[in-house]
Amino acid sequence: MSVIVIGGGFGGIAAALRARALGHDVTLVERLDQLGGRGRVVRHDGFVFDAGPTVITAPFLLDELFTLFGEVRADHVSFLPVSPFYRIRFVDGRHFDLTGDAAAMRGEVMRFSPRDLPGYEKMQHHAADLYRVGYERYGAQPFHKLSTMLKAFPQIVRLGGYRSVYGIVQRYMRDDSLRRVFTLQPLLVGGHPFHTSGLYALIQYLERMHGVWFPKGGTGALVAALAALMQRQGITIRLQTDVDRLLHENGHITGVALTTGETLAAEAVIANADAPAIYADLLPGVKRRRWTDRALDRLDYSMGLFVFYFGTNRRYEATAHHTILLGQRYRELLDEIFGRVSDVPEDLSLYLHRPTATDPDMAPPGCDAFYVLAPVPNLRAGIDWATAAPRLRDRLVAMMEARELPGLSAAIVTESWMTPETFRQDYRSRHGAGFSISPRLMQSAWFRFHNTSEEVRGLYLVGAGTHPGAGLPGVLTSAKVVETLLKEDAQPG
Ligand SMILES: Cc1cc2nc3c(=O)[nH]c(=O)nc-3n(C[C@H](O)[C@H](O)[C@H](O)COP(=O)(O)OP(=O)(O)OC[C@H]3O[C@@H](n4cnc5c(N)ncnc54)[C@H](O)[C@@H]3O)c2cc1C
Repeated sequence: MSVIVIGGGFGGIAAALRARALGHDVTLVERLDQLGGRGRVVRHDGFVFDAGPTVITAPFLLDELFTLFGEVRADHVSFLPVSPFYRIRFVDGRHFDLTGDAAAMRGEVMRFSPRDLPGYEKMQHHAADLYRVGYERYGAQPFHKLSTMLKAFPQIVRLGGYRSVYGIVQRYMRDDSLRRVFTLQPLLVGGHPFHTSGLYALIQYLERMHGVWFPKGGTGALVAALAALMQRQGITIRLQTDVDRLLHENGHITGVALTTGETLAAEAVIANADAPAIYADLLPGVKRRRWTDRALDRLDYSMGLFVFYFGTNRRYEATAHHTILLGQRYRELLDEIFGRVSDVPEDLSLYLHRPTATDPDMAPPGCDAFYVLAPVPNLRAGIDWATAAPRLRDRLVAMMEARELPGLSAAIVTESWMTPETFRQDYRSRHGAGFSISPRLMQSAWFRFHNTSEEVRGLYLVGAGTHPGAGLPGVLTSAKVVETLLKEDAQPG
């Protein structure tokens, strides 16, 4: 069968490989000039900046893509261990090192709040149960049938999946700082910790069991290794190829039309473009049953991201690979970021990436490459990013200089940034959201965009907006779901 994959993000790449392994004739089209989607690479002045994902968890999902073809991932790209997984810094100067070492973790919890140790231990068991059900049992299962949801629901309820991540953590931890430490993970998949389904507390366990890694050469080196694998396996890759709309006849996909006017025929299309944008923009003339414009507008979209990439002419050896600089406020700040405030909030929490802590080759000798990410309201808030971006850049530099990187303003030798507007324009992300729709319970599993379309037959969906969700483990798993669906749909009858 001929299959077209629209979009070369991690979800699209994984789906292309899985479809190819099933024996299909696969073409992947990507509108940008490189693969990787949010995981593309920005290079300037000898510095290499991974634009997006940097915390590599669940490495087995990447290994599997090579195993499909009898190859070994480590022969093509090596993964370096990262420790601590994250350093979380509070405004008062204290920090918590989150690692995979059980004894060290107990020590950190004791340092902050000895009375919370028993609760911490219990929370680890709970996270393990959530992982077994939420990820191992249901993560890679197709969720387009209500019956699957009804079957899963009692277990989700039993494990407290109807609570928020914060709701689960606060039952085990009394110390406010520790509550913050253990509720940050939803932000990595675009969720407000007070509204994201408690199922996402499983991330703690996923990281502890499988570690946090960084590819030698950066996430871009991983994308390059996957691109080479696709080429070895005969997948056709077309860059700078922008899909204008999907073609269909009698309710079944027949191919895609490009913005150049060229058409490409296919018996199936796997769309890795932003799920809400697929329905809003790529299916003109189809009377949509579920994903009407109104339904798309009523969805809760994840926050936007301001990402500032910068290189310094000196090294900051004391700074960890992944640092989170927390602001003074927590819930109030999150409410502003996920709300529609008309300006960037006054205080911010930041994620600082220093890849040169693990791989010095990401920058010229004696230098450091960095990015700092500030979660900000998405484009629904109406912020004018042309004026807001330079002001925010200055605030971030001042904040990092005061708290983590002394002398920073004089040390920056190269820089660039991305705003929610970049996400809208480059990735066609609806409302410039950093992670497509947010991972609330009522937007998860059956409620999320299905991996097989209910609007046209032969259209499959992968990526952050689809089941199971955003983040590399989520989008790589969505490709596994599509593989299952392709197999099922190929069965006679
Ligand atoms: C700054 C940042 C940091 C992150 N950090 C982490 C992290 O550390 N760990 C982690 O696991 N996750 C992280 N994430 C989340 C993770 O990167 C994403 O959830 C994931 O990469 C999304 O993959 P995707 O398959 O949905 O595709 P995307 O990366 O969204 O790619 C979709 C592709 O489709 C293309 N496309 C769209 N429309 C069309 C069209 N009409 N025609 C052709 N092509 C089209 C786009 O150009 C794009 O390349 C981060 C995200 C960001 C933005």
